[in-house]
Amino acid sequence: MAKLKLALYWAGACGGCDVAVLDINEKILDVAALADIVFWPIALDFKYHHVEAMPDKSIDVCLFNGAVRSSEQEYIAKLLRAKSKTMVSFGSCACFGGIPALANFTSRAEIMQRAYIEAPSNDNPGKTLPQTRTKVAEGELELPELYESVFTLAQVVDAEYFVPGCPPTADLILKVVDALATNKLPPPGAVIAADKTLCDECPRKKDEKSISKIVRSHQIIPEPERCLLEQGMICCGPATRGGCGALCIKVNMPCRGCFGPTAGVVDQGAKLVSSIASIYQANNEDEVARMVGEMVDPAGTFYRFGAANSILRKRRFQGH
Ligand code: SF4
Ligand code: SF4
Ligand code: SF4
Repeated sequence: MAKLKLALYWAGACGGCDVAVLDINEKILDVAALADIVFWPIALDFKYHHVEAMPDKSIDVCLFNGAVRSSEQEYIAKLLRAKSKTMVSFGSCACFGGIPALANFTSRAEIMQRAYIEAPSNDNPGKTLPQTRTKVAEGELELPELYESVFTLAQVVDAEYFVPGCPPTADLILKVVDALATNKLPPPGAVIAADKTLCDECPRKKDEKSISKIVRSHQIIPEPERCLLEQGMICCGPATRGGCGALCIKVNMPCRGCFGPTAGVVDQGAKLVSSIASIYQANNEDEVARMVGEMVDPAGTFYRFGAANSILRKRRFQGH
C-alpha cells in the first residue's frame, strides 16, 4: 500500500496537541511506517511555499490543531483545506475554540491594551501597538492581523472529522492512526470519541443528592468514590462527551469539559448550567444569590473550552 501523505499544523494553539502526537511513544514508528509527513512546522523545517506548491488534494490527511484568530491562521486553514483530502479538527481548540476562545469574552482592543501597555513586564513609553504593516529602512514589515474573535476550524473551512481533548489522549490518536491504516474511518462528520457523556463512563457513585454549597478544588479533599458534583464541586461530566477514560476524575479532580458536548447538545455551557441547576437546593432568593456568588468565573467555568462553538460565541460590546 502506498504511504499516506500526512500534514500537521498548529494555529491558535499551545503546542500541547503536537506534543500529544509524540506521546504515543513507540507507536510513532507505526505512523512513520504508515505515512510520510509532508508538513509539520513544530517538528520539521517545511515552509508555507512548500505547501503552496503542492497539487490540490495531494495531502491525504491533515491534523489541524488550534483555533483560528489571525489572518495567517485563516490563510493556512484554507490552504491546507485545498491541499488535503481529509481535514481533521484535532483537539479542543480546533473543535470548539478551546482556551484561546476565552478571549471572546473580551475585545481585541482590551487584549492589546493589557498585553502591550499595562502588563508589568512592558517597557513601552510610546504605547506602541503591533501594526499589520510597518515601514523600516530595509523595507516594509508585515504581521498577520489579529481578528476580533476566535473561531473554530469548522467555522472557517469544512472538516471531515473531529478529535476532541485538550489534548486528545494517546488512545484516541491511536484510534485515528488505526482507522487510517485500515481505511476504516467513520462517516464524515464523526466525532472520534465516545457517544455518551463522561458521567456514563465515570466510576463514581451518584446518590442523586442535591447540593447547597459550591466548593472549589482547593477547599476540600473529596471522597474518592462519590460523585464530585454531589460533593459540591463543579464537574462538567453531565455536559461533556466521554472518551478520555475519566482522566481527571481518577485523580480526584472535576472534569473541566475538554471533550466538548455530546451529539445533539447545541451549547455545552447551557447544558451544564441546566444540569447543575437541577441538583441545586436553594429555598429562597438569598440562598440562590449566595450559591451563584460561590461560583467563581461562571463564563470561564461553563465555557472553558467551548466559547467559540457556543450560542454566545462572543461577548457583545456597546456599539457593536
Ligand atoms: S486543545 Fe489544549 S493542548 Fe491542544 S492546542 Fe488547545 S490548549 Fe493546547
Ligand atoms: S458529575 Fe463528574 S464525578 Fe459525578 S458522575 Fe459525572 S463525571 Fe463523575
Ligand atoms: S475528565 Fe473532562 S477535562 Fe479531564 S480529560 Fe476528560 S473530558 Fe477532559
